[in-house]
Amino acid sequence: MGWDILTRMKLALLLALGVSAFAQAKYDLLLKNGHLVDAKNHLSEVYDVAIKDGKIAEVAKSIDPATALKTVDVKGLYVTPGLVDIHMHVYASTGEEKSYAGDYSLFPDGYTFRNGVTTVVDAGSSGYKNFEDFKLHIIDRSKTRVLAFVNIVGAGMRGGKYENNQADMEAAPAAEMAKKYPGIIVGIKTAHYTGPEWTPVEHAVEAGNAAGIPVMVDFGSNRPERPIDVLLTQKLRPGDIYTHCFSGLRGELDPEGKVNHGMIEGRKRGVIFDVGHGSGSFAWRVAVPAIQQGFLPDSISTDLHNNSMNTGLKDMLNVMSKFLAMGVSVDDIIAKSTWNPAREIHHEELGNLSVGALADVAVLRVQPGTFGFVDMYGARMNGSQKFICELTLRNGKIVYDLNGISRPDWKTLPSNYSFQGDPHWDTLNPPRKIQ
Ligand SMILES: [Zn+2]
Repeated sequence: MGWDILTRMKLALLLALGVSAFAQAKYDLLLKNGHLVDAKNHLSEVYDVAIKDGKIAEVAKSIDPATALKTVDVKGLYVTPGLVDIHMHVYASTGEEKSYAGDYSLFPDGYTFRNGVTTVVDAGSSGYKNFEDFKLHIIDRSKTRVLAFVNIVGAGMRGGKYENNQADMEAAPAAEMAKKYPGIIVGIKTAHYTGPEWTPVEHAVEAGNAAGIPVMVDFGSNRPERPIDVLLTQKLRPGDIYTHCFSGLRGELDPEGKVNHGMIEGRKRGVIFDVGHGSGSFAWRVAVPAIQQGFLPDSISTDLHNNSMNTGLKDMLNVMSKFLAMGVSVDDIIAKSTWNPAREIHHEELGNLSVGALADVAVLRVQPGTFGFVDMYGARMNGSQKFICELTLRNGKIVYDLNGISRPDWKTLPSNYSFQGDPHWDTLNPPRKIQ
């Protein structure tokens, strides 16, 4: 045919490219044989889940592994949407001491993926005055999806001097900032107020109305001038969130040990109840009777920060495991850690594994054993099961793999083996940025 060597090489290259394009797999990643729990779609049974281009591509009883570049067998494990923790403090970048807009906060990535958490909401560490600094240094730089409630206090959560300053609780600029960053600022926070006035709550609701977003309330000091039942039945709107719901610090249980009537009436009105465990907001002597009386939280969240991370709280899966110990079902606990919080923050594209949804996924093990779970007062409850995170996907790619279930056994590899990952489904080997 008389082709020169260069032409032959070009042809060979074209053929190779053509063949590889032809052989391109239908799916990037297949999670096979897992027990899918997807509250939005009312699914709780064994399903295969296939992922392509960062999205859920197929959910079916059996998907052929030959259609995927990578298949991970997750038999015996739960496959759930990436967990959504709507109460964390992650504005760790300022260097300010004794401040949630500083040293009390945590950089998120070390606390999230290893717990199956793919989305966190910072609960008011920043206000409108420093939100953009928070966005620049944390939101835009984290691998975890970070969203925010902005504090009604313009200066943010920087200690009593700031947080009790009614003059800095302006609804209009807080709402303006929220409207500037729709979808990132998902609500307004009020917290830690010690005075008798309703100003922080009223101004937060005013900002929430102006921006069309919910308010999350940490009700601060317990003051007879502003009782919890008035908050829940008059001041908050349907969709507003009462966090720290099992602290017992503001009359969540009445003196007879019954769930406060205002909590029950508030729930009927559509007020949301969130755990927000923290270092001082979860007591067995409140949570157990409340749950026995049928008052479960709508969402499970951590209130994870530098002062709570090593207390009874520990992490998201530990808080979820406490609900296992109290007899709540796996399906309910997962719903309260995925689909419910996603709806509460108006991010219904999250917290579910519908076909077409973003492939943020957690693969969880319910580990039997002998465990102890500790509350804010240092009281223990024994438990026989604990959630463990085996695998986490963010945007369809593996970002955490506890036991290497997505990895080949090294003895099966050539003696000179190198990186095993594939950027279609992996961020770990070699470490890659998440797109
Ligand atoms: Zn908090």
